[in-house]
Amino acid sequence: MFKNKAKTGNNLKEKVSPKNFTKNPIKGTKFTVMISSAKGGVGKSTFSINLLFALQKLGYKVGLLDADIHGPSLPKMIGLNERPKTNNDKFLLPLEKYGAQFMSLGFLVDEKTPMIWRGPMVAGTIKTLAEKVLWKDLDFLIIDMPPGTGDTQLTFAQDVKIDGAIIISTPQELALMDVTRGIQMFNKVKIKILGLVENMSFFKGDDGKSYNIFGEDGVEKTAKEFDKKFLGKIPINTELRKSADLGLPLTYKKPDHEISKIFADIALKIKQDVL
Ligand code: ADP
Repeated sequence: MFKNKAKTGNNLKEKVSPKNFTKNPIKGTKFTVMISSAKGGVGKSTFSINLLFALQKLGYKVGLLDADIHGPSLPKMIGLNERPKTNNDKFLLPLEKYGAQFMSLGFLVDEKTPMIWRGPMVAGTIKTLAEKVLWKDLDFLIIDMPPGTGDTQLTFAQDVKIDGAIIISTPQELALMDVTRGIQMFNKVKIKILGLVENMSFFKGDDGKSYNIFGEDGVEKTAKEFDKKFLGKIPINTELRKSADLGLPLTYKKPDHEISKIFADIALKIKQDVL
């Protein structure tokens, strides 16, 4: 009787322990990589789409889930404005373009509809997007998460099996504080951090000089401080911005561009880490 009691105690402990999550893998993909930023506007979506095609250039079948449902930017970045079809009204079929598969709430709602939702609705919608899309034989699914480290991100990270996360930030002091929070969140939900990326690291002027507009090496230092990999620096680049506006990602259109080479290098590091 005494023994049983101890067993029940342990079971209960397991049940209430915040560290035991039932993580559901996303069907139709081998590896799921989450792109996260603690702040909006640091280039998370730009990074996600360009990393996607850098992985495709390595020979992988790739898909992108735009889970940034507050402001889904995928439809514009990829130049797609169709409604996804359903399979018996049960599953959504991803849209295809440039040989990759895509899903975004932006395909399902009007572009001009403001998405002012509360936490639980956001978490529920992202979960539905994660569970109800029929991805086809992907090697990599990239998830572009909403910015922040709040409940939405935490719930999602607890429920869905993620093979690795990448945190992206500018080198600005203010953004770095949030990066630390991001690292702590992933540690808490036991998601492997594949590494940190610094975006908008510098701007190279026509005079050939580099200008550190948002500060210098901040993300690399943070990576060192927390013993995480530093995956690379992406400068401010007009072509990168323009290609996103035109719906033709730079790494797809110009894989030999100097910026595309940085993405290729990061894709290679991810391949080595995940496979
Ligand atoms: P987030 O997804 O973090 O909100 P976005 O990817 O939408 O950020 O980027 C915010 C804006 O900055 C967009 O207009 C994008 O085109 C631009 N941008 C992002 N990274 C760069 C960069 N390295 N160089 C130039 N413009 C960039």
